[in-house]
This record gives sequence, C-alpha cells and structure tokens, in this order.
Amino acid sequence: MSPVYPVILVLGASALPTARRIQHCLPDAQVWGLAGRADGADRTYHGFGDTLRGLYQEGHPIIALCAAGIIIRGLAPVLEEKGLEPAVLAVAEDGSAVVPLLGGLGGVNGMARTIGLALEVAPAITTSGELRFGTCLLSPPEGYVLADLEQGKHFVADMLAGRSLRIEGAAPWLAEANLPLAVDADLAVRVSPHQAKAEGELLIHPRSVAVAVGAAGEDLPARVLEALAAAALAPAALAVLLAPRRAMASPAFAAAARTLGVQLRFCELDDPQAALLQALPEADHLQRDGIGLAVSDSPLRADELGLRRGRLAVVGLGPGARALMVPAVQAELTCAQDILGYETYVNMAGPFRPEQRLHCTDNREELQRARHAFELASQGRDVVVVSSGDPGVFAMASAVFEALDGSDDPAWHGVDLAILPGVSASLAAAARAGAPLGHDFCVISLSDNLKPWSTIEARLDLAGQADLAMAFYNPISRSRPWQLGQALDIVRRHRGPDTPVVLGRDIARPAERLRVVTLGELTPEMVDMRTMVLVGSSTTRTIAREGEQPWVYTPRWYPRAPGAEAVLT
Ligand code: SAH
Repeated sequence: MSPVYPVILVLGASALPTARRIQHCLPDAQVWGLAGRADGADRTYHGFGDTLRGLYQEGHPIIALCAAGIIIRGLAPVLEEKGLEPAVLAVAEDGSAVVPLLGGLGGVNGMARTIGLALEVAPAITTSGELRFGTCLLSPPEGYVLADLEQGKHFVADMLAGRSLRIEGAAPWLAEANLPLAVDADLAVRVSPHQAKAEGELLIHPRSVAVAVGAAGEDLPARVLEALAAAALAPAALAVLLAPRRAMASPAFAAAARTLGVQLRFCELDDPQAALLQALPEADHLQRDGIGLAVSDSPLRADELGLRRGRLAVVGLGPGARALMVPAVQAELTCAQDILGYETYVNMAGPFRPEQRLHCTDNREELQRARHAFELASQGRDVVVVSSGDPGVFAMASAVFEALDGSDDPAWHGVDLAILPGVSASLAAAARAGAPLGHDFCVISLSDNLKPWSTIEARLDLAGQADLAMAFYNPISRSRPWQLGQALDIVRRHRGPDTPVVLGRDIARPAERLRVVTLGELTPEMVDMRTMVLVGSSTTRTIAREGEQPWVYTPRWYPRAPGAEAVLT
C-alpha cells in the first residue's frame, strides 16, 4: 500500500456512514474524524485546517465531507501552480454530491466517478477535455507517464479547438474514450518507451523497461541513465531495477532505485541479466556496460520479475490512547500487511482493513513470534510486530534481535528491519504525576522470569545507594506474589518513609488510575501487573493540588554536600 493513502476527512459523526461507503470503494483510504466530534473513525485529528494542509502537502488524496468553501479557504494559503497535486474532493455529508476540486492530473475525476458510482450520484465534473473526450489525456492510468505536461496542455487545447487525432502505439485505456480519431490526423498520441519529441505529438511512456545489474556503486544511477540514453529510451519508461538476492541489504541498490524512481526487485539467480531473460522472453534485450535492459511492449509488473525486500518494523504503541502513539508508528500500521503481537496489543493497534492479516499470539511466545515475523518479512511482506509502550523496554525489540542473532539464514538478514519508538509506561505515568523522573533515574523489571532474583536484589540495592529515582515495570503478578515486598524492603534501607511513590495503573487507557502514596504507606496489595511503580529519590517532593492527587517532581538540582558551597565560591 502506498504511504500516501487517501484520507476521508469527517467533521461530525453524522457523516461517518457516508465516509464508510466511500471507504468501501477506496479500500486503501483511511477515515479520519475530528476529535470529540467523530470519534468512531479510524483515526482522530485535531484542527481541520492544519490537518487538511498537512495532508495536501504530503500528497495524500483528500475526500472531505463538508462544504466545498471550507476546503477552498483551508487550502488557499498552500495552493501553488504545480503540475502534480493530490486529488481533493468535497462530498456532501449525506452523500448527495461529489465535487472534484483539485488534482486533475492526480486522477481526481476518476476518483469522483468511482465515488459517484458508490453513492449513486453523478459527479460534478467540470474539466472541458474530460467532458468532451471522456478521459483526461494528461492523466494516463497506472503504468504510463506523460512525458511533458506543458506540451500536453497545448495539445489538449488544440484538440478542444476541433482538431482530430491518431494513436501511435498501444493505448488500451483510450479505446473507450470518445476521441475525434482519424488515421490521417496531424495530431497524435504516441505511446512509446523511447525519447521521441515531435511537433503535434503527445508522448506517453509505458513503464515497460527493466534494468538488471549485478553490483551497485554510487555511480549506478548515472550508469543506468547512460545505458538508457544510448538506447534512446526515456528514463520515465524505466519501471524496475532487478538485482541479485544476495544484495538485498545493499544500501547502494536501494539508493539507486530511489534516485531513479523505480521499483527494486531481487532474483534468486546470481546473474540478474539471465533472470531478466528468463522472466521476459518476449522482450527486446540489450546489454551495455554490464547493464542489461529489457524493453517489453506493455507496462511491467514489478512483482512478476522478482521478490521485493520485505520490511519488519517493531513498533511501540505507547501506553494506550491513540494520541500518545507517535505518527511514524501510525503510518507503519497503515502500510503493514501482517501484524503480529499479543492479542490485547493487536486490538489496541487497530482498526485494520480486511486485507491486513492479524497474527495474535500468547504474551509469552515472544521468540516464536519474532521468528514468524522474519519468515513473513523474508517472503517480501511488510510486517509489524507490536509492543505496548516502547518496543525496546522489556518488550519485543530484543526478542526480534535474539531471533536474528540466532539465525544464519541470509534471507532473514536481508530484511529491512526498523525499530520505531513509543512512549514507555514509566514516562507516561511520570507525566501524569508531574516530573518524578526529572533527575537521574533507573528502570527495573521486577520479573524474575528471565533473570535471577539475586540480580534484581543487587540492582535495587545499588540504585538505592546511588539515590536514583526508580521505575518498576512488571511489579507483581499471580505467579510472582512475594517479589515486590522484598524489593520494597531493600529500597527502604536507603529511602525514608516519606519518599513519594507514584502508582500509575492503566495509564492512558479508559480505566486509568493514578495514586500518590508514601514509601511508608505502600503495600504490595496496592499494586498489580497493570501498574507502574515510580519511587522517588531523596530529593523528590510533592505539591498539593485541589481535588486531585498531588503533583510529584524531582528537582533538577542536587543539594551539595555541607561545606561544598564554600569551596566553589
Ligand atoms: N514495553 C512496555 C513495557 C512492557 S512490561 C513499555 O515500554 O511501557 C509490562 C509492564 O509495563 C506492566 O507490568 C506495567 O508495569 C507496565 N505498563 C505497561 N503499560 C502500562 C500502562 N498503560 N499503565 C501502567 N503500567 C503499564
């Protein structure tokens, strides 16, 4: 799925049914609802204008269920004369009108037709060329690109003035258009992968060229462009760069594909030119300077040429509320094909589209889950493993690296692996309480499932000696009932009974509960496995609050040893 998926913007709950009908015909689309007004959406947003402008500038097609005027005013400050802009449509909240506003070259009219069909209304199409000829010549379908937009505009103006047209090459999508065709016309649409500038011709390139290269250096894009130029092929006709699988993790290939704006695929054969010959026996094959070119007679489908590099992202969902999930994680979840994790967290990460595959497992099967994730990603899929909070804090990221470290399968090591951070429970709980971790602190898991209890005791003792504030994860559970009591005994050797303690339970979830007690009052019964325990240092203080738990904070400064002041001044 493209990272610039369409976004259906909803301002009020009454528009949600229409939004869902539109989403049904645009399955990639996400429904975003205004916070507090349309909360049943896939995602909430704050501030219509800023969200609208941000989406437009990132190139997301936008379908806004509101008055056209609101969208026009909202986008006015960022509108500029540019060739390619995303489709922007206004749709009446009750689905009775579909108005394409911007993005003629971004396929807005096609999108308006699709939505019009779904809502059973005629879209308000106003583009002259489109109305007259039933197609936008300047916006060819996927797999084809227009060579020159400015020239294209003149061309359409000439056609509107009444001139006829012939088609050179294969343009199957024009078969249904209502074009003024004549075999001897002086205007022509030419569909060709070759550089061929001619007066009175609208040149459209099919993305029908593949390039195969065995090894990449920094100069690869330049070499490919030279090879294309020598064969008089247009760079825009290049669709796929094929490389050997052993180079899957090579940054040089990835950079070259990005620079050239093409898909990168990998073949099992060590010689990608041989693989290209096998995959496209009908194509014209050329060779130049170690670079193999194949020119097919129609657009190429990258997935038929080789395997894509799969991605495995280990993401942190934050403590619960969507608003505390970082945007990079939200985007990764949108693009994911497979989502793995403990069922509670997978549910927290949703909603998902029907084609996204969910693999829910038991909380304790971490290593097995990590291996499964590598299996899927090494087949070329985009996989997300979810953790609550931050994935690197007592969570899945380490399990994923343990699995990788224990494997010598090159396919696993070829996966595009990324760890995306989240707001960890200790930080979320601390923020609710004030700033208890505002000075040096440590985090300790009190679970002795994966480390000896004696190690935990030693760390607690040393953290106490060092006067660190402490954040306890996994403080207690049914199978570990006594450990917290012992941990507190150790802490009490170093801290007074008045030391503030924050107990944050289900932070940023519907059942959130925050309590501030003293170390003297604290008993293990006040704590369960959904609680974060934050124990202050000797300098941690409280400030009373009306009707709320007190603020807890640890100052940035430290009392100097008696007499130190005199030495320093
Ligand atoms: N990776 C997670 C921690 C996993 S360990 C993170 O970074 O937050 C699980 C422990 O985290 C729980 O036993 C509990 O102590 C704490 N925890 C996780 N989410 C919490 C929440 N929303 N509120 C309070 N504590 C939470």
